Amino acid sequence: MKTGAGFDRIIIVDWSASKVPSPKKPSPDAIWMAVVDAKGTQCSYHRTRADVMTRLRAQFDAALAAGQRVLAGFDFPFGYPAGFGRAVVGVDDPLALWSALSARIEDGDDNANNRFDVARALNRLFPGVGPFWGCPAGLEDADLPARGTARHGHGMPEKRQVELRIPSAQPCWKLYTTGSVGSQALLGIARLQALRDNYGPALSVSPFQAPDTPIVLAEVYPSMLAGEVAARQGADEIKDRAQVRVLAEAFAGLPHTALDAMLREGDGVEGWILGLGLGHETALRAALAGAPMPLKNDCFALPPGVHWTPVDEALASLKSRLGPVVGTTQVPVGQALDRIVSADIIAPRAHPPLPNTAVDGYGFLNGRGEGPHQMSVMAEDMAAGAAPDTVVPAGTAIRILTGAALPPGVDTVILQEDVTVSGNTISFTGPIKHGANTRKAGEDVAAGDVVVHRGRRVTPADEALLSAVGANAVPVYAPLRVGILSTGNELVPAGADAGPGQIYDANRPMLMGLVSKLGHHAVDLGQVADDRAALAARLDDAAGQVDVILTSGGASAGDHDHVSALLNEAGAMALWRIAIKPGRPLALGMWQGTPVFGLPGNPVAAMVCTLVFGAPALAQMAGAEWSAPQGFMVPAAFEKQKKAGRREYLRARMVGGEVEVFASEGSGRISGLAWAEGLVELPDHAMQVRRGDLVRYIPWSGFGL
Ligand code: AMP
Ligand code: MG
Repeated sequence: MKTGAGFDRIIIVDWSASKVPSPKKPSPDAIWMAVVDAKGTQCSYHRTRADVMTRLRAQFDAALAAGQRVLAGFDFPFGYPAGFGRAVVGVDDPLALWSALSARIEDGDDNANNRFDVARALNRLFPGVGPFWGCPAGLEDADLPARGTARHGHGMPEKRQVELRIPSAQPCWKLYTTGSVGSQALLGIARLQALRDNYGPALSVSPFQAPDTPIVLAEVYPSMLAGEVAARQGADEIKDRAQVRVLAEAFAGLPHTALDAMLREGDGVEGWILGLGLGHETALRAALAGAPMPLKNDCFALPPGVHWTPVDEALASLKSRLGPVVGTTQVPVGQALDRIVSADIIAPRAHPPLPNTAVDGYGFLNGRGEGPHQMSVMAEDMAAGAAPDTVVPAGTAIRILTGAALPPGVDTVILQEDVTVSGNTISFTGPIKHGANTRKAGEDVAAGDVVVHRGRRVTPADEALLSAVGANAVPVYAPLRVGILSTGNELVPAGADAGPGQIYDANRPMLMGLVSKLGHHAVDLGQVADDRAALAARLDDAAGQVDVILTSGGASAGDHDHVSALLNEAGAMALWRIAIKPGRPLALGMWQGTPVFGLPGNPVAAMVCTLVFGAPALAQMAGAEWSAPQGFMVPAAFEKQKKAGRREYLRARMVGGEVEVFASEGSGRISGLAWAEGLVELPDHAMQVRRGDLVRYIPWSGFGL
């Protein structure tokens, strides 16, 4: 493995020494894991150590199978103050100590474990009392005191070298209450030793071993970035989750060489906290600069006191409050098509880089006046790609071909069709303008110009421009993962048997298609019955997997409208009553830091609301610039009396230069959606449309489909 090679996955685990499984519902002070890879960030909650180990092994196996490298960080000490290893295993070898500790630890699938017994037995190897201390009342004895002050004469330093640099660090001897770092280390080291046994030479432990393996384990300390975590913790996001997420994003954003250097640093006996030390915190903070900021809890709030909010106000509020929620990465220009650029891209080189000729012809210095001219032609010629190092003497011409750089002594080119060649002489008739048929260096793009702005979705022409100016690494956002969930007792998935009273789930395939056509990564979250607990469990799962959730159904304020009820309970919901037809209320909220768009169940309303509100909101969250739909004023092929007070969208299509609308405005008519090729948008005010009047038609492509 070459030095400084990057990692394809960064994993951070927040460990726990709990002796029972953590609550079913994602909770603080339990095990949390974040994975950052090319697809973005994924967070998961684990009730037991055994469970997170299964997940880790799956990650490691997938990485190895794909020839990738993975860095996994854990928030417990990997070592003990110098001297402890010698006392326990006879040598200062931290990994021999790992083996010895793991041989003693028993840690069940249900978190039941013998850590206090192991600590007690270890204490017996030392004179006096200690160094381990702390246990639940009743468990203490002469070998394992309940209080740290009861220890004496064991001879071990209280802290490791690295811990002397952080006043808030808890010592690894303390087994119980705040931090219980000692218990976390005993149980953690035993689990990591099992990984060492499993992965052998494919795995190394920093800083005890050189980090030149596909899998590298390291110790991390989330409080190191406490300020960043606080600033980036999402609405309702559990702190432990924010910690692993932000830490993983910070390490993932570091230049490869910086991370490699960090992994090689630190105390080879006691261990080290990755990145702790002069200068690295600054680098880590800088690495977070491109990472997303969480949305605020009130990001979907609408102006109070308004009964029906106008569409434009609702859009303005989305526009001002939503921002990118996805991390950033870099891709080569050839893979940048359709990705969203995360930082302005500067031209490293001018285009064209040097003055060159626009035609095949003969080059010389200065223009020529009226009348006949004759010039001798040099033996050499200048083809495209040749270095312009042949000096052309004054009064002499050189044969030069399209795209070739102008050699010294040439600033004007005459078209080959305009000369007569005889031997090594050309003759032609003037005038020829000074500079004719040449392109100036940088006349298209100067070096240092911004060629592609942040927020742009890369087009084939952008790829041409980026290539032309020599910008190969393109900074892009990770794709926005949009989860799609259908709700309703009546729903049956396509292809299944439908009983009486049941209907097929039409929204999910439609929304999956809309989301992918809008350029995002659609994730099928299936369907869930009108059952609050089931829905909450599905949202919990989804919040770790996707960046945004679109639900359909159950978004109004009725008894069976569990989406709005749940979001409401979570305390971060706005029920959007928008003055729009079709469209019932939308429930917009945050679920564990993940935005949820509760769309109406009605397929027509669901599609219209997705196009009108979802498309620009998703674009903004994906890092793209705000996208207003592109419409055209065209003559109406229909008549309609429209009421004041709401905006209306009619299913429409163009025919013979006019726009026609679907015969029925019934919002259950899916056939009309399929018939249409766009929507007619009628303004908020009252309107009498007569045949031939100009109305605004927005084809599907105008919404970004
Ligand atoms: P709701 O918003 O849940 O009150 O649903 C409004 C209407 O949309 C009801 O007639 C539902 O049966 C229908 N509906 C809800 N979800 C879907 C879906 N996924 N596919 C088709 N129709 C749906
Ligand atoms: Mg329903």
